[in-house]
Amino acid sequence: MVGSARRADRTPQRGVPTRIRRPNFVDAQLGKAHLAIDMKTSNFRIVPLPTKVANAARRAAEAGATDHAVIMADSPNGFPCRHCLRWAQSGERVILFPFAAIPPGHPYSETGPIFVHEQPCERYAATGEYPSDFRSGRVFRAYNANYDMIDAKPVNGDEPEAVIETLLQNPQAAFVDARSADRGCYTFRIERA
Ligand SMILES: [Zn+2]
Repeated sequence: MVGSARRADRTPQRGVPTRIRRPNFVDAQLGKAHLAIDMKTSNFRIVPLPTKVANAARRAAEAGATDHAVIMADSPNGFPCRHCLRWAQSGERVILFPFAAIPPGHPYSETGPIFVHEQPCERYAATGEYPSDFRSGRVFRAYNANYDMIDAKPVNGDEPEAVIETLLQNPQAAFVDARSADRGCYTFRIERA
């Protein structure tokens, strides 16, 4: 009985379809317009390493801190600077030092090695755009507001923007960290725009 009633609802009646078809068509067009606007405005914001952290590392390296090593980059894709979010080029010097991406005092607290250019560099400024140097070789970890890791996804050939959007669809996700897929090193943070 219910099924036949539903079919009856959908059965076009003479004179009615022309009245309902037009609004549906207009709605569909509006939907496409909203999608086009959404695609231009990213739903995330890239957070590079703060300049004060990069400068503190430069000062510590200059002072000879034993946990701050100055290294000459010798390959084009092995030394990512977390401040300008670019690969250091062969021959450029970088500082290798430990950074607490997840601060102490939490079950997921984590301190690990990162690079910054030894010379002052410009902090990554296109925060609405995913950094082009790191479109592959990253894994994304989602954390809640208590710094608990709640999800993780590798890029795996997908568009990184789509993976980030999926992770941020979880209302519990407070931020997402991009890390190296092979070595696990922290690369940058992503927050909701
Ligand atoms: Zn840099």
